Amino acid sequence: MPTCKSCGEDADELQTVKVDGKTKKLCESCADEVREQGAVAEASEAAVQNMMGFKGRR
Ligand SMILES: [Zn+2]
Repeated sequence: MPTCKSCGEDADELQTVKVDGKTKKLCESCADEVREQGAVAEASEAAVQNMMGFKGRR
């Protein structure tokens, strides 16, 4: 049975999630958590790119 790398629990199915550019295999609940955090990181990254690409937009 695969083991979650984050919480160390056995999981029926591991999900592949990208964390800080690295691929990790996590159980569903950990994957959800990381996705939420990852969504925030991606959003802020996009915001920075937008700022650089569209200066003086406001
Ligand atoms: Zn887990």
